[in-house]
Amino acid sequence: MQIDRILIRYGEISTKGRNRNKFIKRLQQNIADACSDLTRFHIESGRDRMHLELNNADEADQIMDRLKIIFGIQSFSPVVKSGRDLDEVKNHASQLVKSVATEGTLFKVKARRADKNYPLDTNELNYEIGSHVLREVPGLKVEMKKPEVELTVEVRSEAVYLSAQTIQGAGGMPIGSGNKAVLMLSGGLDSPVAGYQMMKRGVELEAVHFFSPPFTSEKSKEKVKQLASELAGFSGSVKLHIVPFTKIQQTIHQQVPENYTMTSTRRMMLRISDEIKNKTGARAIVTGESLGQVASQTLESMEAINAVTHAPVLRPLIASDKTDIIEIAKKIGTYETSILPYEDCCTIFTPAAPKTRPKTEKVAFYESFIDFDEMIREAVENTEVITLKPGYQSDEDEEIDLF
Ligand code: ATP
Ligand code: MG
Repeated sequence: MQIDRILIRYGEISTKGRNRNKFIKRLQQNIADACSDLTRFHIESGRDRMHLELNNADEADQIMDRLKIIFGIQSFSPVVKSGRDLDEVKNHASQLVKSVATEGTLFKVKARRADKNYPLDTNELNYEIGSHVLREVPGLKVEMKKPEVELTVEVRSEAVYLSAQTIQGAGGMPIGSGNKAVLMLSGGLDSPVAGYQMMKRGVELEAVHFFSPPFTSEKSKEKVKQLASELAGFSGSVKLHIVPFTKIQQTIHQQVPENYTMTSTRRMMLRISDEIKNKTGARAIVTGESLGQVASQTLESMEAINAVTHAPVLRPLIASDKTDIIEIAKKIGTYETSILPYEDCCTIFTPAAPKTRPKTEKVAFYESFIDFDEMIREAVENTEVITLKPGYQSDEDEEIDLF
């Protein structure tokens, strides 16, 4: 079956009133970017649907695979273009249904006429095409209310368009329609999922990772690059800022009372993320925190950590259960990477008994004896920025394991 077009339905975007055009333009651009290595196709956008007119039908499957993960698409359908002659339409119809139906499939035809001059009206079209398909494809059952396969036939003045399949899209909003945020990306399970949730709401991300060599190995850095690349699968590319964090972490370890080291470490991470946010023109900071998961994720802790910035700190997983987070991680393909064993900078310095109810004044007092401003400036200055594309694989031979 030759697929000539793909019909895309927007879902949520079409409710966006005056901003709708901006959203549609962004979606159009994101689709073109995701397929930039393929033969160019023409995109025609309407109020609540978009049509891709393919120039190379052989690439239809590849394009549809990519459409499945582009946010802002509710669903899409492969469409076959037929001449207006009824026999030709019937022939396409039976072939199309054959390609998706199995024994006992519940089936219905739904014809629409944009061109009212066509010699048959919609009832006649439904009857003629339906009875032909039933003859040609054995085992179908007609079902008007809840068909499994609905063959839509759209008669236009230039051609007739047929489609028998609706494929679920990723939903959400087109990435970039919601400005930009920095994602604090550890090597764990939660932060990649938090990033995914924000991308799904249209937010473009730059990732920030705190790296403490030699306490954290090259392998743990590779793991984070891999995760950033997996997130890039949804947006085309993700910039990753790798912040050298050893000096700050060691200083905290030496000079802040042990039960407050974790709080202070998080505060410094947030201050640096805030700097990077400003530098990159992002509007918010995203973390993978989830209430009650670990010591730093109590409300008191968040209050003490959050006190270092006025920037919005978004925590999309705050009320999620771990089991739900794991399920999403599996669905989006970050799970296997996240569970690789390589240590994170925080696990290594984690005190035996971190304060679960730290006081903001106390931690600020402990920090007041240290010139963190200068260390933060230095860390930001020496931050390495790399752009990750989908499909990044670390080169095994080049890995240096420091342990
Ligand atoms: P995750 O599964 O994302 O690692 P977690 O449950 O292990 O989260 P924490 O270790 O307390 O929780 O970290 C809370 C959040 O702080 C993380 O979700 C992440 O956003 C941020 N974070 C922690 N460590 C780092 C790091 N090394 N680099 C960047 N961000 C970090
Ligand atoms: Mg972690």
